[in-house]
Amino acid sequence: MLNIVLFGAPGAGKGTQADKLVEKYDLVHLSTGDMLRSEVARQSARSAAIKQLIDKGQLVPDSMVAEMVAEKIGEHRHSNGIIFDGFPRTIPQAEMLDAMLAEQGLHVCGMVALNAPEDELVRRLLERGKYSGRDDDRDDDVVRRRIAVYHEKTAPLMDYYKAQAKYLPVVGVGGIDEIFANLCAAIKHCKP
Ligand code: AMP
Repeated sequence: MLNIVLFGAPGAGKGTQADKLVEKYDLVHLSTGDMLRSEVARQSARSAAIKQLIDKGQLVPDSMVAEMVAEKIGEHRHSNGIIFDGFPRTIPQAEMLDAMLAEQGLHVCGMVALNAPEDELVRRLLERGKYSGRDDDRDDDVVRRRIAVYHEKTAPLMDYYKAQAKYLPVVGVGGIDEIFANLCAAIKHCKP
């Protein structure tokens, strides 16, 4: 299985590129952001708590996200592979992912990291906020908080995957097809 962690700050273009990767490599797209937004829409017992955290630009507890991911990995363990988009976002989540995959005899094949300058990230998120319907894309303060949370909690994952020789940096600036070509070149170095 080709299990890829698609990494990058909010606004780096993970969702757009994930759709293209799914099509090219016939993979399953696992986006924890999408899963959490669906749970909010379903109005479950924990919807209000999840929505409050998302709207503030803060992370949802690791255990809650890990539970959703474990279920989805189980459902798709016989697929060609999974693209993890927006997960893991903390070191404990990365450790949980390694453990969950190992339980099924699987592993992360590589972490492809989309890099883009911060001004560009803020610009893209606020632009997306005009049509995405996402409250967390509309407010300048929330957008900046999400990027700050990324630096504090998520960026350390680059070292986590470097230590496993799985960190594959990719230039995330340019046209969509150009960035996609950069990603595909990096994926050649993944270890299925
Ligand atoms: P995203 O769609 O990936 O930008 O995620 C939107 C929001 O969902 C984030 O700002 C977090 O509040 C929450 N979220 C998504 N994925 C995770 C995760 N792996 N861990 C914790 N919170 C998450």
